[in-house]
Amino acid sequence: MRPLSDLLRKHILTVKPYSSARSEYPTANTSSNQASSKTFLDANENAFGSPSEITVNRYPDPLQMALKRRICEIKQIPESRIGTIFLGNGSDEPIDLIIRAFCEPSVHAASGEITEGDAMIITPPTYGMYEVSAAIHHVAVKRVPLVRTFEGKTGTFCLDEDGIKQAITPRTKLIFLCSPNNPTANVFERAALERIITGFDGIVVLDEAYIDFAEAHSFLPRLAEFPNLVILQTFSKAWGMAALRLGMAFADSSIIEVLNKIKPPYNINILTQETALKALQHTDWKERVVRDILEEREALMHELSALHDVQHVFPSDANFILAHFTSARAVYERLVEKGIVVRDRSGVTLCEDCLRITVGTPFENERLLAALTSA
Ligand SMILES: *Cc1c(COP(=O)(O)O)cnc(C)c1O
Repeated sequence: MRPLSDLLRKHILTVKPYSSARSEYPTANTSSNQASSKTFLDANENAFGSPSEITVNRYPDPLQMALKRRICEIKQIPESRIGTIFLGNGSDEPIDLIIRAFCEPSVHAASGEITEGDAMIITPPTYGMYEVSAAIHHVAVKRVPLVRTFEGKTGTFCLDEDGIKQAITPRTKLIFLCSPNNPTANVFERAALERIITGFDGIVVLDEAYIDFAEAHSFLPRLAEFPNLVILQTFSKAWGMAALRLGMAFADSSIIEVLNKIKPPYNINILTQETALKALQHTDWKERVVRDILEEREALMHELSALHDVQHVFPSDANFILAHFTSARAVYERLVEKGIVVRDRSGVTLCEDCLRITVGTPFENERLLAALTSA
């Protein structure tokens, strides 16, 4: 890996972060401060309280330490490594911050020419936000498509390692990999991921949003081996809290420090912090529901495979299924007429005539199958 100071955009190194009242005197932000004997007149909050059901007049902890301590327990991270955790407003926030921190945008010169800045590599078909975030920042994206391992009625998708190697230039700062991948639903071969991480001198962002549904293990226990690795996980999927908007990034503390420096100071609101902290007591709920989803996934895959309209059901390590239909658009529209909404991925590289179907409850899956079988 190149030194972090070479990889980061130069001005990011010298940005001085906003110093909030709550970062100068951090103990103020626990909800127990009401009962404490201290008097907080440092943050221009409304000392009289708030009209909402839940008291929200005080600014929240900018670094969400209570929540991170609980995440340490759940993920078996020693507390001495709490500085390797970043929490964001969904995974969207670390995606955006990482691109902003590392990639110099391409600029329009006065001549009308576009001067290439830094670049990032993505492997389509993959999660749409990487490219959207890059576009917002006017950062160049190199696309190295996945490879279909078998054509026709079987197979899955794998990374084009040679293609990725060839796409790397001195200005390539980031490679985004998503495993299990959305929308293809499969995990990539572990050795291939490892070769890409260790063979690249920039930053690899490995999005593990769906890792709880996979048999394969997360790279998180091995984070310390890979100084250039950023792992993304989220509470939106297995933990069932998509509306809270809470995503995690794990990386060497030198990288996390940069993200903390450039994030909006209070990026995780108190309702999210407190709701998540309470919910994280219920690891049993999460484990049971993941088991239920996996059971439903296997049943649904089996039933889908038997349908006349379905050419191929791709293997899944996620809570959704990618299926190749004879005519995906027609099936999509028929389902919409019956009040069932799935994701039409027909327009996406390598996903011609494919629908992406989230695994629902048994009742929802029954409805889906009934709608698919009634012509
Ligand atoms: C759903 C999803 C996420 C989660 O995004 P949040 O902003 O945390 O809700 C991240 N990555 C991928 C690939 C996803 O499909």
